[in-house]
Amino acid sequence: MSVLIVGSVALDDLETPYGVRKRALGGSATYASIASSYFTNDNRFVGIVGGDFPDEHIELLKGRKIDLTGLEIVKDGNTFSWGGKYHDDMNERDTLFTELGVFETFEPKIPEEWRKSDYLLLGNIHPGLQLAVLDQVEDPDLVICDTMNLWINISRDELIKTIGRVDILILNDQEAKMLTEDINAIKAGKKILEMGPSHVVVKKGEHGAVLMSKDQMFVAPAIPLDELKDPTGAGDVFAGGFAGYLDQTRDHSFENLKRAVLYGTTLASYCVQEFSVEGLGTLTKEQIDTRAHSLIELAACSLP
Ligand code: AMP
Repeated sequence: MSVLIVGSVALDDLETPYGVRKRALGGSATYASIASSYFTNDNRFVGIVGGDFPDEHIELLKGRKIDLTGLEIVKDGNTFSWGGKYHDDMNERDTLFTELGVFETFEPKIPEEWRKSDYLLLGNIHPGLQLAVLDQVEDPDLVICDTMNLWINISRDELIKTIGRVDILILNDQEAKMLTEDINAIKAGKKILEMGPSHVVVKKGEHGAVLMSKDQMFVAPAIPLDELKDPTGAGDVFAGGFAGYLDQTRDHSFENLKRAVLYGTTLASYCVQEFSVEGLGTLTKEQIDTRAHSLIELAACSLP
């Protein structure tokens, strides 16, 4: 059982109504692999950082038993850095800057011994890089892909090619609407299923997520939180928790995909309660299970 995770590794400047962090650990691969590590033991990490990447972050990832064989360290370069500022309505954020650093020349290289990995999670990176990863792996059991609005805007054709080669696409409702040019999120999900994936997960932030296949649908609530400090990485954590849970359970039935959505949602709720990855460091299996069960109860009711 193994999950290969490819994505960005970042030093983020974060500003939310609850505070500010400078050069905090971030990136799609970082968030996703920490989330996945709560479920599966074989987390294979592929990314790139510069010589400025603090050792303590490497130790944090190693401490989660994430295998960093695929982490390229370019001594004389700078780590990718992103700045984001959230509005009072934290569903709205502005990108303040994006400094690509070593990410500019990133060519993901999958170590030979990882080419046959069971699960592949294509974290949010340029779809051209996602395609390059797909060309290097040997027939994974399941390919899960995350993306963002930027790529829909500037690399639409490559993104559509990538989507044609993945099993499960995860994106938020705005992105689904943008991608399909449909104003209805459910219709947008159906159009995405026509592009190739067998399943799509359309996330709706604080309103939960919808899992769709051609003939089935599941609507999961989100955990109602009375304090949300930093939404950064929630999507990546959802994807990592989803992939890790599936790898741990090895069951691709719709019923089990529903559970994976609940566990992805649960991990994402811990992520947004603190800045950066601070809310994800020390969870116990009991805490995660209890919160996942509370999610089921939230949606349960009986009809006369
Ligand atoms: P999310 O909140 O799920 O969109 O993820 C935020 C994370 O994505 C941050 O840690 C950023 O460093 C990272 N990120 C922002 N822009 C990009 C980009 N263009 N490519 C890859 N990762 C990015």
